[in-house]
Order: sequence, then structure tokens, then C-alpha cells
Amino acid sequence: MRNLSAQQSGAHYDVAVVGAGPGGSATAYFLAKDGLRVALFDKFEFPRDKTCGDGLTPRAIKTLAAMGVLSQIEERAFRSPRIKMRYSDEITFNLELDHLKNLPRYILTMPRFQLDDVLRQYAVNAGVHFFPRARVKNLTRLVDKRVSIQTESGPVIECALAVIATGANSSLLQKLGLLKKSPPVNLAARTYFENIKDLDDSLILFFDGINLPGYGWVFPTGEGTANIGCGVFFEDSVSQASRLRGLIAEHPYLQRILKNARQVAPIQGYPLRTDFSPSHSGNEWILVVGEAAGLVNPISGEGIDYALESAHLAANAILNGWQDGFPSTATQKKYRTALGKKFQFQFILNHLIQKIYFRNGIWTSVLKSACQKPTLRKAMVDAVVGTGNPLVMFTPRVLRDVFLQLFSGRADQSKPG
Ligand SMILES: Cc1cc2nc3c(=O)[nH]c(=O)nc-3n(C[C@H](O)[C@H](O)[C@H](O)COP(=O)(O)OP(=O)(O)OC[C@H]3O[C@@H](n4cnc5c(N)ncnc54)[C@H](O)[C@@H]3O)c2cc1C
Repeated sequence: MRNLSAQQSGAHYDVAVVGAGPGGSATAYFLAKDGLRVALFDKFEFPRDKTCGDGLTPRAIKTLAAMGVLSQIEERAFRSPRIKMRYSDEITFNLELDHLKNLPRYILTMPRFQLDDVLRQYAVNAGVHFFPRARVKNLTRLVDKRVSIQTESGPVIECALAVIATGANSSLLQKLGLLKKSPPVNLAARTYFENIKDLDDSLILFFDGINLPGYGWVFPTGEGTANIGCGVFFEDSVSQASRLRGLIAEHPYLQRILKNARQVAPIQGYPLRTDFSPSHSGNEWILVVGEAAGLVNPISGEGIDYALESAHLAANAILNGWQDGFPSTATQKKYRTALGKKFQFQFILNHLIQKIYFRNGIWTSVLKSACQKPTLRKAMVDAVVGTGNPLVMFTPRVLRDVFLQLFSGRADQSKPG
């Protein structure tokens, strides 16, 4: 362990991390493991809930393994070897994960109430000082280049650098001028059920009865239990909580599997930000990680993997230039470049995939075509769980398959009788 500590006095830290979701706890852990004095703030006492589908993609699992915390998570998480895509009883197919290289070939599901506390505790065990019930209301840069963190109720602390990992809630970022205006938000909602019928070990995404771009999901969390929800990638005028209530009451597929099931949690909605750009990465004295940087996949809505990966990039950028209790002046630039290199191309293409394919008529053709075409199914895995180059959705073969299906569907519709 390197001795990188700045000052030893009570309220002085090297780095302050705001937000103890996966992004914040992972950043705090990576820094503390390498000897930095880290303060981690969250506005809530833990364990606390976070509205989510609870799915951990192969990329998330890989970073959790790199942190050394995966075995603790696997003890409690539910393991799924595939995603089942469903439009109707006829248009249903599996996305297997067998082709993934250098990545786990499964997905885990673990309620965020548990996951986030395991990660936070793991960071604390590495030496992080956690401040619960500490809503950070402002950060200011002092004349000696240190940063002052002010919480609503707790202590004011000083540090050399701050990391913001506050998720979809962008009020602090706007106050600090790191976001010029309210970012566009997507919406999703979920609840939990027990005693569900016909549930196997697949994660289910369903599209019938859902406004596009968007989807519904049934993610098993254990024997007969699941996280069930829906979300859309646009600013819907109707709340997703009421959309989900309607689906649970009337959707034929949900009605069938939930016949004797018990709802065991209220329906809760929460926003999602998919507006990533390297310019959201912070400034000279603040780095922004996870969903606070808009890092949520615009096709699948998954953001835990991006939160963990950006935490790793931020920690590397900080540690590489750390000297005499301060980050190097190149830290922000290094982080911004690393984020851009890893995610920018993927986000541009995923937004494009969402706009082109996730539309009425076209999406049904994609799903129908994927029922028969293994190449398309493979491309969909890469796009949905972010495990490959999204360009796979634009190869001549994929475009041909989708558009042949689209035009054959239109021709069928125009036939009399
Ligand atoms: C309904 C829904 C379903 C989803 N399903 C999935 C899924 O299945 N898989 C997946 O990978 N992603 C999913 N996502 C996205 C995922 O939940 C987020 O992208 C992920 O939680 C981002 O992690 P984070 O650490 O950046 O932020 P968060 O997990 O949001 O953590 C932010 C933390 O900051 C704290 N905080 C905020 N402001 C302050 C402040 N001023 N002071 C102190 N603390 C503060 C909050 O209390 C919170 O603990 C879903 C999102 C929604 C809404």
C-alpha cells in the first residue's frame, strides 16, 4: 500500500466522494485501497433502497471481480444464464451469452437494498470514512486549492479533490455549474413479487403493451420471486408508476404469471440519465462518475456497470498523478480522455440504434427476424448488455435481415383477407 495521505487532522481528507451508490462506493474503495484518505457521503442511512431492475451485466460482474467483492455478492445474488426477449407467445426467443469473450457468461440479480450496502461496507473495510445522512449541499474551492464540502446537517470537511457520484439527481451538478441546464431524463418504475408461476432462470424483457422506445421486465431475484418493472427512453407525460400499475392489472402475460403471486413492495419510479458526453466528466477539482455523468445505456437502461467502470477510470486517473497530497493538474484531462475513449463511440451508436430500431413497426421486425437469425441475436446481446461494438447492429447482414422482415410484414398486411 502506498502512503499517499495528505494531512492527518480530523476533518481533512485526500478525496471526498459524494454519493454511496455503486459508482461512489467503488471509487472510494479503489482510492482507499491505494492509501488515500477518503470520505464518502450519502444523504441516506444504509442500507437504503434504490429503485432499479437490480440486474448486474457481465461487465458489472467483471469489475466486481476486479474489486475482489464478487464472492460476497454471488453468495446472495440470483444467477441467470440468458435473457428472454418476448413480444408475444409466438415472438419469443433467448439471448444466450455463450459467445462472450473475457467476460462472465451470466447475469446476476441482487436487490439494491443489499448490493449497495455490501459495496459501501466493502469500501469502509478498506479504510473509507462513511458519513450517512449527510446531504452535500455545496462544494467550494478554497484559496489554497483545497476543496470544502458542506453538508446540510453534518461536518464541513476539507479535501484535495472531490468526486461526485450522485446518480440521476443533477441538482448539485447544476448548482456547481457542471451542468448548464436540466438534462433530459428517461423514466422507469419497478416493484417486487413473490410466488410467481412459470418463472425459470431467464431475465425477461417484454415489449408488447409498452410505449417505444422502452421495455418491460421480469428479473428473477430468487425462487418464484422477481423484480418487475417498465421504463421508457423519453420524457413521458404519464408516470411510469401508473404505467406499471396498468400493466400489472391488464397485461395478458403478466396476468398469467402473476395469477397467484403476491406483490411485496410498493411500485416506485425513478429517472434515468443516458446523456453521457466526456464534457460531463467534471473540472479541475471535481470528477463526476456513474449516472451523474449520464452513463446509462440508452438501449437497455443499465447503469451499474458504467458506474463501476467509470469509478475505476476515475480512481486510476487520480492515483496516477497523486503527489504531496494533491492530484496532478492533468488528472481531469486524463479522466475525460479515458471516459471518451471507452464510452463515447458506444453511446453515440447506442443512441442511434435506439432512434432507428426502437420504433413501432421496425422493432417488431427486428424481434421477428431475431427469432430465426442467430447473428442478429448475437448482435442484440452485444447491444443490450453493452458487451461488444454496437456497429454489429449496422452490418449489411443485420440491416438486410431486418428490412426484409419489415417489408415482408408490410406486404402481408397489404394482402386482402
Ligand atoms: C427503474 C430503474 C431500473 C434500472 N435497472 C437497472 C438494471 O437492472 N441494471 C443496471 O445496471 N442499471 C439499472 N438502472 C440504472 C441504475 O440504477 C443506475 O444507473 C445506477 O444506480 C447508477 O449508479 P450511481 O452510483 O451512479 O448512482 P446511484 O446508484 O443513483 O447512487 C447515487 C447516490 O448518491 C446519493 N446522493 C444523491 N445526491 C446526494 C447529495 N447531494 N449528498 C449526498 N448523497 C447524495 C444518493 O442517496 C445515492 O445513494 C435502473 C434505473 C431505474 C430507475
